[in-house]
Amino acid sequence: MFRINENYLKLPGSYLFSNIAKKVNAFTAAHPDKPVIRLGIGDVTQPLAPAIIDALHEAVDEMAHEETFHGYAPDLGYEFLRNAIVEGDYKARGCEITADEVFISDGAKCDSGNIQEIFSLDNKIAVCDPVYPVYVDTNVMAGRTGTYDPKSEIWSDVIYMPCTSENGFAPELPRETPDIIYLCFPNNPTGAAISKDRLQEWVDYANRVGAVIIYDAAYEAYISEEDVPHSIYECDGARGCAIELRSFSKNAGFTGTRLGFTVIPKELKCGDVSLHGLWARRHGTKYNGAPYIIQKAGAAVYTPQGRRQVQEQVAYYMKNAKAIYQGLKEAGYSVSGGVNAPYIWLKTPDGMSSWEFFDYLLEHANVVGTPGSGFGPSGEGYFRLTAFGSYENTLAAIKRIQSM
Ligand code: PLP
Repeated sequence: MFRINENYLKLPGSYLFSNIAKKVNAFTAAHPDKPVIRLGIGDVTQPLAPAIIDALHEAVDEMAHEETFHGYAPDLGYEFLRNAIVEGDYKARGCEITADEVFISDGAKCDSGNIQEIFSLDNKIAVCDPVYPVYVDTNVMAGRTGTYDPKSEIWSDVIYMPCTSENGFAPELPRETPDIIYLCFPNNPTGAAISKDRLQEWVDYANRVGAVIIYDAAYEAYISEEDVPHSIYECDGARGCAIELRSFSKNAGFTGTRLGFTVIPKELKCGDVSLHGLWARRHGTKYNGAPYIIQKAGAAVYTPQGRRQVQEQVAYYMKNAKAIYQGLKEAGYSVSGGVNAPYIWLKTPDGMSSWEFFDYLLEHANVVGTPGSGFGPSGEGYFRLTAFGSYENTLAAIKRIQSM
C-alpha cells in the first residue's frame, strides 16, 4: 500500500482567508443595504499597462507563424528578458549580477516554496513573525519544522524573529544560529522596509555563521525612501550568502499573468558545491519555463514606455497607501508601513484582538481588512489594510473608519 508524505498532515488548516470570506458573506447577507469595501486583498486591481498589452499581442502574432513560433523556452529563461533584468534591476543599482545568474520562473510564490528543496532537511530555518506563510508551510511539507503547538501557533524547530513596534518591525539577529534565513523587504504583511545598514548587518551575520539568506524582494517597486536597498546585492558580501526572489506581480500587475525570477550568484557555495548549479539542475528537471509570450510581456516592463506606465500604477496604489496611513493617523491609530510598501499595518485599538477588530470594522465601517494574527503569533493585536483598491473606495473606507 502506498504511503503519503505525512508531513502534509502536520499542516494546520489555513483558515485566514476562508474565515474572512465566511464573515463577509454572512454580513452582506444580513445587511444587503450596506456595501462593503474590501481593503484586505493582496491582489492588484489595475489592468496591465498598454506597453505590456502591445508586447503580448505582438508575441501572440509571432506564435502564429512558423518562422517566429517558439516552443520550449531555454531552461533559465530567454536571454532578452534576463539581460533586461540585469540592466534594469541590478546594473542600474550598482549590483554585480550577470544574466546567467538569473532564473526566470512563473512567480515568487513557487520559487519561495521550491527553493528549500536544494537544502538538507536538517537545516534550521529562521523566519520573521509575522510572516508570508509560504516560507513556513513549504518547510513543514518538507519535514524541516518539528512539531506544531496549536496553542502558541509555533513549530518546535523554527526560529521565530518577532517583528513588532518595539523593534520597528525589523527582526533582530537571532540568539540561536539558523542555517537558512528568510527575509522579505519591503515586508508583507507589516509594510516595513529595512535600511541598507541593517540589511548589511544581516549579510555580515550570514557570512559569519555560514547561513544562507533567502531574500524576497517582491515589493521592491514600492520603495520610495532613499536609504532603502532595492536588492540585497547592494550589500557587500551578499553574493556569497544570498538568494534573491523577485516577482512581476506587484510592480507590473502580473498576478494573473505569472512571471518572476530568482537570482543565485555563482559564488554562493556550500563547500565546493554551487547552489547555482543545484537550482539549475532542479529548474531543468522540474520546470519547463514561463511562456515566451509572458516573457516578452515581462521585457516590455523594462522599456522606457513600459517603465513609465508601471511606475504610474505603483504611484496610484501608493497614493491610496498615503491616504490610508494619514487618515488612520488623524483618527488616532498607531500606524506603520505604507511608505515603501502597499500594506498599512495598524495596532488594534483598546486592546482588541486582531479578529475582534476585524468584526468591529466590518460591523461599524463595513470595511474588510486582514487580521494580523493570521500571519503569525506576533501579528496578534495588529491589522493589515492594503492599498490595492480604487482611490475612491479607499477614501470612502477611510472616511467611514474616521467616523466609527
Ligand atoms: N512574496 C511575497 C512576500 C508576497 O506577498 C507574494 C504575494 O502576495 C508573493 C511572494 C507571491 O508572488 P507571485 O505572485 O510572484 O507568486
